[in-house]
Amino acid sequence: MALRIPETIAFDDILIRPSFSDIKSRRHVNLITNLCGISLNLPIISSPMDTVTEAAMAKAMSKAGGMGVIHRYNSPEEQADIASAVTDAILEESGTPTVAAAIGVTGDYIERATALFEVGVRTVCIDVAHGHHILMKEAITEIRKIFGDAFHIIAGNVATLDAFNDLSDWGANSVRVGIGGGSICSTRLVTGHGVPTLQSVIDCSATDRSAAIIADGGIRTSGDIVKALACGADAVMLGSMLAGTNEAPGQVAKDNETYFKVYRGMASVDAQMNWRGHTSSVEGVSSKVPCIGPVATILESLRKGVVSGLSYSGAKDLSELRSKAKIIRVTTSGITESKTHIDLI
Ligand code: IMP
Repeated sequence: MALRIPETIAFDDILIRPSFSDIKSRRHVNLITNLCGISLNLPIISSPMDTVTEAAMAKAMSKAGGMGVIHRYNSPEEQADIASAVTDAILEESGTPTVAAAIGVTGDYIERATALFEVGVRTVCIDVAHGHHILMKEAITEIRKIFGDAFHIIAGNVATLDAFNDLSDWGANSVRVGIGGGSICSTRLVTGHGVPTLQSVIDCSATDRSAAIIADGGIRTSGDIVKALACGADAVMLGSMLAGTNEAPGQVAKDNETYFKVYRGMASVDAQMNWRGHTSSVEGVSSKVPCIGPVATILESLRKGVVSGLSYSGAKDLSELRSKAKIIRVTTSGITESKTHIDLI
Protein backbone atom coordinates (compact mmCIF):
# COMPACT_ATOMS: atom_id res chain seq x y z
CA MET A 1 0.00 0.00 0.00
CA ALA A 2 1.28 3.47 -0.85
CA LEU A 3 2.54 5.56 2.05
CA ARG A 4 0.06 8.30 2.92
CA ILE A 5 1.92 11.41 4.02
CA PRO A 6 0.02 14.14 5.90
CA GLU A 7 0.59 17.79 4.99
CA THR A 8 1.66 20.22 7.67
CA ILE A 9 1.36 23.97 8.17
CA ALA A 10 4.14 26.40 9.11
CA PHE A 11 3.74 30.03 10.22
CA ASP A 12 4.17 31.45 6.71
CA ASP A 13 1.55 29.09 5.24
CA ILE A 14 -1.39 30.81 6.92
CA LEU A 15 -2.89 34.22 7.50
CA ILE A 16 -5.89 35.31 9.54
CA ARG A 17 -8.69 36.85 7.48
CA PRO A 18 -9.64 40.26 8.96
CA SER A 19 -13.10 40.31 10.60
CA PHE A 20 -15.58 43.01 11.63
CA SER A 21 -14.36 44.75 14.77
CA ASP A 22 -16.38 46.64 17.35
CA ILE A 23 -13.29 47.42 19.39
CA LYS A 24 -13.11 51.21 19.41
CA SER A 25 -9.73 51.49 21.09
CA ARG A 26 -6.81 49.09 21.32
CA ARG A 27 -6.79 49.98 25.02
CA HIS A 28 -9.84 47.71 25.31
CA VAL A 29 -7.83 44.67 24.24
CA ASN A 30 -6.11 42.60 26.92
CA LEU A 31 -3.57 39.83 26.50
CA ILE A 32 -4.00 38.15 29.88
CA THR A 33 -3.38 34.43 29.73
CA ASN A 34 -3.83 31.70 32.29
CA LEU A 35 -1.33 28.88 32.23
CA CYS A 36 -3.14 26.43 34.47
CA GLY A 37 -2.90 28.70 37.51
CA ILE A 38 -0.16 31.12 36.43
CA SER A 39 -1.67 34.37 35.22
CA LEU A 40 0.45 36.45 32.85
CA ASN A 41 -0.46 39.88 31.48
CA LEU A 42 1.75 39.23 28.48
CA PRO A 43 1.75 35.74 26.90
CA ILE A 44 5.51 35.74 26.29
CA ILE A 45 8.11 33.53 28.00
CA SER A 46 11.87 33.70 27.48
CA SER A 47 13.76 30.50 26.64
CA PRO A 48 15.91 28.60 29.16
CA MET A 49 19.11 29.19 27.20
CA ASP A 50 22.44 30.52 28.46
CA THR A 51 22.37 33.35 25.91
CA VAL A 52 18.79 34.33 26.78
CA THR A 53 17.67 34.00 30.41
CA GLU A 54 19.52 34.75 33.62
CA ALA A 55 18.57 37.22 36.37
CA ALA A 56 18.32 40.45 34.34
CA MET A 57 16.11 38.87 31.67
CA ALA A 58 13.92 37.04 34.20
CA LYS A 59 13.34 40.27 36.16
CA ALA A 60 12.50 42.25 33.04
CA MET A 61 10.18 39.54 31.71
CA SER A 62 8.27 39.45 34.97
CA LYS A 63 8.09 43.24 35.13
CA ALA A 64 6.64 43.35 31.61
CA GLY A 65 3.95 40.81 32.54
CA GLY A 66 5.60 37.76 30.98
CA MET A 67 7.92 35.18 32.48
CA GLY A 68 11.56 34.14 32.15
CA VAL A 69 12.87 30.60 32.50
CA ILE A 70 16.36 30.59 34.01
CA HIS A 71 18.58 28.12 32.17
CA ARG A 72 20.18 25.04 33.77
CA TYR A 73 23.66 25.20 32.26
CA ASN A 74 25.31 26.07 35.56
CA SER A 75 25.63 24.44 38.98
CA PRO A 76 22.51 24.06 41.15
CA GLU A 77 24.02 26.69 43.53
CA GLU A 78 24.66 29.19 40.71
CA GLN A 79 21.16 28.67 39.36
CA ALA A 80 19.58 29.10 42.80
CA ASP A 81 21.61 32.31 43.30
CA ILE A 82 20.33 33.70 39.99
CA ALA A 83 16.77 32.67 40.91
CA SER A 84 17.06 34.18 44.35
CA ALA A 85 18.19 37.53 42.89
CA VAL A 86 14.99 37.47 40.83
CA THR A 87 12.52 36.30 43.50
CA ASP A 88 13.88 38.87 46.08
CA ALA A 89 13.53 41.66 43.55
CA ILE A 90 10.13 40.66 42.29
CA LEU A 91 8.72 39.87 45.74
CA GLU A 92 9.65 43.34 46.95
CA GLU A 93 7.96 44.99 43.98
CA SER A 94 4.85 42.94 43.26
CA GLY A 95 4.61 40.02 45.67
CA THR A 96 4.17 37.42 42.92
CA PRO A 97 7.29 35.66 41.69
CA THR A 98 6.46 34.95 38.06
CA VAL A 99 9.75 33.28 37.34
CA ALA A 100 10.61 29.75 36.32
CA ALA A 101 13.83 27.77 36.22
CA ALA A 102 14.86 24.78 34.16
CA ILE A 103 15.90 21.34 35.37
CA GLY A 104 16.79 18.17 33.46
CA VAL A 105 15.48 14.61 33.78
CA THR A 106 18.60 12.92 35.20
CA GLY A 107 21.60 13.76 37.38
CA ASP A 108 21.17 16.73 39.68
CA TYR A 109 17.56 17.59 38.80
CA ILE A 110 16.14 16.89 42.26
CA GLU A 111 18.97 18.86 43.87
CA ARG A 112 18.18 21.76 41.53
CA ALA A 113 14.46 21.60 42.24
CA THR A 114 15.13 21.56 45.99
CA ALA A 115 17.50 24.55 45.80
CA LEU A 116 15.03 26.43 43.60
CA PHE A 117 12.15 25.67 45.94
CA GLU A 118 14.18 27.00 48.87
CA VAL A 119 14.69 30.38 47.17
CA GLY A 120 11.00 30.76 46.36
CA VAL A 121 10.72 29.44 42.80
CA ARG A 122 7.39 27.71 42.27
CA THR A 123 7.60 26.95 38.54
CA VAL A 124 10.08 24.45 37.14
CA CYS A 125 10.60 23.72 33.50
CA ILE A 126 11.66 20.14 32.80
CA ASP A 127 13.71 20.93 29.77
CA VAL A 128 14.74 18.23 27.27
CA ALA A 129 14.88 18.09 23.49
CA HIS A 130 12.59 15.03 23.15
CA GLY A 131 10.09 15.29 25.96
CA HIS A 132 7.91 12.31 24.99
CA HIS A 133 10.29 10.02 26.77
CA ILE A 134 10.33 7.54 29.65
CA LEU A 135 12.89 9.71 31.50
CA MET A 136 10.43 12.62 31.36
CA LYS A 137 7.70 10.42 32.82
CA GLU A 138 10.04 9.35 35.62
CA ALA A 139 11.20 12.92 36.32
CA ILE A 140 7.69 14.39 36.49
CA THR A 141 6.56 11.49 38.71
CA GLU A 142 9.54 11.97 41.04
CA ILE A 143 9.04 15.75 41.31
CA ARG A 144 5.35 15.23 42.10
CA LYS A 145 6.24 12.51 44.65
CA ILE A 146 8.68 14.78 46.50
CA PHE A 147 7.05 18.19 46.12
CA GLY A 148 3.38 17.32 45.62
CA ASP A 149 1.64 20.17 43.84
CA ALA A 150 4.04 22.81 45.16
CA PHE A 151 5.50 23.32 41.67
CA HIS A 152 3.80 24.34 38.48
CA ILE A 153 5.56 22.00 36.05
CA ILE A 154 6.32 23.11 32.52
CA ALA A 155 7.53 20.10 30.52
CA GLY A 156 8.70 19.53 26.98
CA ASN A 157 9.42 19.72 24.21
CA VAL A 158 6.84 17.75 22.28
CA ALA A 159 5.50 17.83 18.73
CA THR A 160 2.35 15.69 18.82
CA LEU A 161 -1.02 15.46 20.54
CA ASP A 162 -0.20 12.01 21.96
CA ALA A 163 2.92 13.42 23.56
CA PHE A 164 1.06 16.47 24.87
CA ASN A 165 -1.61 14.28 26.47
CA ASP A 166 0.95 11.92 27.98
CA LEU A 167 2.98 14.75 29.57
CA SER A 168 -0.22 16.23 30.88
CA ASP A 169 -1.34 12.86 32.31
CA TRP A 170 2.10 12.36 33.88
CA GLY A 171 1.58 15.63 35.77
CA ALA A 172 2.71 18.59 33.63
CA ASN A 173 0.70 21.82 33.99
CA SER A 174 2.11 23.41 30.83
CA VAL A 175 3.77 21.81 27.85
CA ARG A 176 6.33 23.34 25.47
CA VAL A 177 5.19 22.51 21.97
CA GLY A 178 7.62 22.56 19.06
CA ILE A 179 10.44 20.27 17.92
CA GLY A 180 12.99 21.33 15.35
CA GLY A 181 11.67 24.82 14.63
CA GLY A 182 14.11 26.96 16.62
CA SER A 183 16.19 29.51 14.72
CA ILE A 184 19.42 27.90 15.99
CA CYS A 185 18.13 24.34 15.77
CA SER A 186 19.53 21.69 13.45
CA THR A 187 17.48 18.77 14.81
CA ARG A 188 15.55 18.33 11.56
CA LEU A 189 18.75 18.37 9.50
CA VAL A 190 20.59 15.99 11.80
CA THR A 191 17.77 13.57 12.63
CA GLY A 192 15.12 14.02 9.96
CA HIS A 193 12.56 14.46 12.76
CA GLY A 194 10.30 17.32 13.73
CA VAL A 195 7.00 18.98 12.92
CA PRO A 196 6.49 22.63 11.93
CA THR A 197 5.80 24.39 15.23
CA LEU A 198 2.46 25.87 14.18
CA GLN A 199 1.21 22.43 13.07
CA SER A 200 2.17 20.99 16.45
CA VAL A 201 0.24 23.80 18.16
CA ILE A 202 -2.80 23.10 15.96
CA ASP A 203 -2.58 19.35 16.71
CA CYS A 204 -2.10 19.84 20.46
CA SER A 205 -4.96 22.34 20.66
CA ALA A 206 -7.32 19.38 20.07
CA THR A 207 -6.46 18.12 23.56
CA ASP A 208 -9.14 17.52 26.15
CA ARG A 209 -6.55 17.91 28.95
CA SER A 210 -6.24 21.16 30.87
CA ALA A 211 -2.48 21.68 30.44
CA ALA A 212 -1.47 24.96 28.81
CA ILE A 213 0.23 25.09 25.40
CA ILE A 214 3.47 27.06 25.08
CA ALA A 215 4.42 27.43 21.40
CA ASP A 216 8.21 27.22 21.21
CA GLY A 217 10.63 27.59 18.32
CA GLY A 218 10.67 29.55 15.10
CA ILE A 219 8.69 32.62 16.17
CA ARG A 220 10.15 35.65 14.36
CA THR A 221 7.52 38.40 14.46
CA SER A 222 4.50 39.62 16.43
CA GLY A 223 2.46 38.25 13.51
CA ASP A 224 3.79 34.75 14.26
CA ILE A 225 2.82 35.25 17.92
CA VAL A 226 -0.75 36.18 16.89
CA LYS A 227 -0.95 33.10 14.63
CA ALA A 228 0.29 30.81 17.43
CA LEU A 229 -2.22 32.27 19.91
CA ALA A 230 -5.05 32.08 17.36
CA CYS A 231 -4.24 28.41 16.68
CA GLY A 232 -4.46 27.46 20.35
CA ALA A 233 -1.25 28.47 22.14
CA ASP A 234 -1.72 29.98 25.61
CA ALA A 235 1.72 31.62 25.42
CA VAL A 236 4.80 31.66 23.22
CA MET A 237 8.43 31.09 24.09
CA LEU A 238 11.07 33.25 22.44
CA GLY A 239 14.81 32.82 22.03
CA SER A 240 16.26 34.68 19.04
CA MET A 241 13.86 37.62 19.36
CA LEU A 242 15.20 38.39 22.85
CA ALA A 243 18.86 37.32 22.53
CA GLY A 244 20.08 40.71 21.30
CA THR A 245 18.57 42.71 24.15
CA ASN A 246 20.57 44.36 26.93
CA GLU A 247 19.20 41.86 29.47
CA ALA A 248 20.36 38.72 27.62
CA PRO A 249 23.55 37.26 29.15
CA GLY A 250 26.82 37.61 27.24
CA GLN A 251 29.34 40.16 26.09
CA VAL A 252 28.66 42.80 23.45
CA ALA A 253 31.12 42.62 20.54
CA LYS A 254 31.61 44.93 17.56
CA ASP A 255 31.89 43.75 13.98
CA ASN A 256 31.86 46.16 10.99
CA GLU A 257 30.31 48.98 13.05
CA THR A 258 27.54 46.63 14.25
CA TYR A 259 27.19 45.63 17.89
CA PHE A 260 26.10 42.05 18.48
CA LYS A 261 25.78 39.28 21.05
CA VAL A 262 26.27 35.55 20.68
CA TYR A 263 23.08 33.47 20.47
CA ARG A 264 23.57 29.73 20.46
CA GLY A 265 21.57 26.53 20.55
CA MET A 266 22.07 24.61 23.78
CA ALA A 267 22.92 21.53 21.72
CA SER A 268 25.51 23.42 19.62
CA VAL A 269 29.19 22.44 19.81
CA ASP A 270 30.04 25.73 21.57
CA ALA A 271 27.39 25.37 24.24
CA GLN A 272 28.05 21.68 24.89
CA MET A 273 31.81 22.22 25.19
CA ASN A 274 31.16 25.03 27.68
CA TRP A 275 28.74 23.21 29.94
CA ARG A 276 29.95 19.63 29.82
CA GLY A 277 33.37 19.71 28.16
CA HIS A 278 32.48 17.31 25.36
CA THR A 279 29.84 16.97 22.66
CA SER A 280 27.16 14.36 22.31
CA SER A 281 24.55 14.74 19.55
CA VAL A 282 25.07 18.17 17.97
CA GLU A 283 21.65 19.57 17.09
CA GLY A 284 22.18 23.29 17.24
CA VAL A 285 24.32 26.09 15.88
CA SER A 286 25.94 29.16 17.32
CA SER A 287 25.36 32.56 15.76
CA LYS A 288 25.33 36.23 16.62
CA VAL A 289 22.44 38.65 16.72
CA PRO A 290 22.47 42.46 16.57
CA CYS A 291 22.12 44.35 19.84
CA ILE A 292 18.59 45.77 20.01
CA GLY A 293 18.43 47.64 23.32
CA PRO A 294 16.26 47.12 26.41
CA VAL A 295 14.00 44.06 26.39
CA ALA A 296 11.15 46.20 27.76
CA THR A 297 11.13 48.17 24.48
CA ILE A 298 11.09 44.99 22.40
CA LEU A 299 8.31 43.45 24.50
CA GLU A 300 6.26 46.64 24.28
CA SER A 301 6.54 46.65 20.52
CA LEU A 302 5.56 42.95 20.39
CA ARG A 303 2.64 43.67 22.74
CA LYS A 304 1.41 46.47 20.46
CA GLY A 305 1.70 44.21 17.40
CA VAL A 306 -0.26 41.41 19.09
CA VAL A 307 -2.94 43.82 20.35
CA SER A 308 -3.28 45.16 16.82
CA GLY A 309 -3.58 41.56 15.61
CA LEU A 310 -6.47 40.91 18.00
CA SER A 311 -8.23 44.04 16.82
CA TYR A 312 -8.07 42.81 13.18
CA SER A 313 -10.04 39.75 14.33
CA GLY A 314 -12.44 41.87 16.41
CA ALA A 315 -11.18 40.06 19.52
CA LYS A 316 -10.87 41.78 22.88
CA ASP A 317 -8.95 38.94 24.51
CA LEU A 318 -7.16 35.69 23.71
CA SER A 319 -10.20 33.48 24.10
CA GLU A 320 -12.13 35.65 21.60
CA LEU A 321 -9.15 35.50 19.25
CA ARG A 322 -9.28 31.69 19.30
CA SER A 323 -13.01 31.59 18.61
CA LYS A 324 -13.13 34.41 16.05
CA ALA A 325 -9.92 33.97 14.05
CA LYS A 326 -10.59 32.79 10.50
CA ILE A 327 -7.45 31.01 9.41
CA ILE A 328 -6.72 30.82 5.70
CA ARG A 329 -4.05 28.93 3.79
CA VAL A 330 -1.91 31.04 1.42
CA THR A 331 0.01 30.02 -1.67
CA THR A 332 3.68 30.75 -2.25
CA SER A 333 2.63 33.90 -4.17
CA GLY A 334 0.67 34.95 -1.09
CA ILE A 335 3.73 34.33 1.08
CA THR A 336 5.83 36.55 -1.21
CA GLU A 337 3.17 39.27 -1.10
CA SER A 338 2.97 39.03 2.71
CA LYS A 339 6.57 40.16 3.14
CA THR A 340 7.63 43.72 2.42
CA HIS A 341 8.62 43.59 -1.24
CA ILE A 342 9.93 46.93 -2.33
CA ASP A 343 13.55 47.44 -3.38
CA LEU A 344 15.19 49.22 -0.49
CA ILE A 345 17.38 52.15 -1.55
P1 IMP B 1 13.89 30.58 18.55
O1 IMP B 1 12.95 31.45 19.35
O2 IMP B 1 13.40 30.29 17.17
O3 IMP B 1 15.28 31.12 18.56
O4 IMP B 1 13.91 29.15 19.28
C1 IMP B 1 14.21 28.99 20.65
C2 IMP B 1 13.94 27.56 21.05
O5 IMP B 1 14.84 26.66 20.37
C3 IMP B 1 14.18 27.25 22.51
O6 IMP B 1 13.16 27.69 23.35
C4 IMP B 1 14.34 25.73 22.50
O7 IMP B 1 13.10 25.06 22.50
C5 IMP B 1 14.99 25.48 21.15
N1 IMP B 1 16.44 25.20 21.25
C6 IMP B 1 17.37 25.78 22.04
N2 IMP B 1 18.60 25.29 21.78
C7 IMP B 1 18.44 24.37 20.83
C8 IMP B 1 19.35 23.49 20.12
O8 IMP B 1 20.57 23.51 20.30
N3 IMP B 1 18.80 22.64 19.22
C9 IMP B 1 17.44 22.61 18.99
N4 IMP B 1 16.56 23.43 19.57
C10 IMP B 1 17.06 24.29 20.49
